[in-house]
Amino acid sequence: MDSSETIIVAGAGIWGCTVARVLAEAGRQVEVWEKRPVTGGNVRCETDEKTGIEVHTYGSHIFHTHLPEVWEFVNRFVRMNGYQHKVLARHDGKTYFLPLGLTLVNAFFGVELKPSELPDFMRDEAHSKAIFDAFFRNYTSKQWGKAPEEIDPTIIKRVPVRATYDVNYFNDYWQGIPESGYNSLFERLLDHPNIKVTTGKTFRLEDLGEKTVFYSGPIDELFGFKFGPLPWRTLRFETERLPIADAQGTSVVNYVDADVPYTRQHEYKHYHPEQKSVMEHPETIVCREYSAAWQPGDEPYYPVNNEESAALLSRYQAEAANHPKLVVGGRLGAYKYFDMDKSIEAALNTARQYLEENK
Ligand SMILES: Cc1cc2nc3c(=O)[nH]c(=O)nc-3n(C[C@H](O)[C@H](O)[C@H](O)COP(=O)(O)OP(=O)(O)OC[C@H]3O[C@@H](n4cnc5c(N)ncnc54)[C@H](O)[C@@H]3O)c2cc1C
Repeated sequence: MDSSETIIVAGAGIWGCTVARVLAEAGRQVEVWEKRPVTGGNVRCETDEKTGIEVHTYGSHIFHTHLPEVWEFVNRFVRMNGYQHKVLARHDGKTYFLPLGLTLVNAFFGVELKPSELPDFMRDEAHSKAIFDAFFRNYTSKQWGKAPEEIDPTIIKRVPVRATYDVNYFNDYWQGIPESGYNSLFERLLDHPNIKVTTGKTFRLEDLGEKTVFYSGPIDELFGFKFGPLPWRTLRFETERLPIADAQGTSVVNYVDADVPYTRQHEYKHYHPEQKSVMEHPETIVCREYSAAWQPGDEPYYPVNNEESAALLSRYQAEAANHPKLVVGGRLGAYKYFDMDKSIEAALNTARQYLEENK
């Protein structure tokens, strides 16, 4: 194989940018094609000129991982600000700390359980049902567009219960937000003499020629939806500027009751507690997130995993396997929800495997 051949990376999300970087550092020439006018995929943000607030265009993104290699990789390009994610839940006029642990259970039932007493307390059907009905049933129903009665009550048995007062939302050891903003991560990943980036350029099946292509767009779209579209849930964001310094005192509040049509409200300035001027600015920006069924043309957010979509995905994967120079990955290519750290891990592995097989 000619190692001076140009490799195409289609899609400049976190998966594509990581693949491009690894290949470039191994001496390969890489062309990145990105359909949108900007890089970063769904982790893209825009900084509000007036307040300096970093607005997460496609929903709140908090970097969190327990993978040392991924953490080190990201920290080569950006410094993380040490933000620790906490999520509150608004139910029946009161505000509670998630996730499901001593803080939530004690506040909700008005008890003072000790850590050792929590597991038995939650094994009681009446208690677990009350928690499920209050915090999970309607939220899940809104998120997946199903009637509350259709939500399987046994999901509560699979929700991990923390027998501590730890209200950190993630279990991962490392977390944070890039101090210089998410966009800088992508700019720096792609800033390499062996990488050429073209935005506003869509990769199509007819572009597949002799070159190797790492594609992270939707797998069904690449094949012209020939077996039908894979189903997704989409999101609608309602963003509002408010003339107050602080609207909710935290970054994310889940609205878990049926009478509120949105699932969560984000207040982005809380992701950068280190930015004093932003925190103290007399205005804030909030964003209400609504979940909806996906129609062709909508932004795909969450894959709808069921037997039908799994069968459809297999057909597209079989189609992709007919093209030996095509590597399909990323959340849209794999039709899978990946957190950012898992996207990077997958990209590192995919690019290294390619280099190993094509020395
Ligand atoms: C609402 C929401 C919140 C999330 N919050 C978090 C979080 O807090 N923490 C976390 O770790 N993860 C979070 N994630 C997951 C995170 O968004 C993904 O891990 C990440 O976006 C995956 O990157 P990607 O490169 O695979 O895909 P994308 O970011 O979707 O990038 C794909 C890119 O390919 C481009 N493209 C598509 N088709 C073509 C084509 N034919 N030619 C050229 N370019 C093309 C697209 O325009 C896009 O830029 C969240 C996801 C969602 C849906």
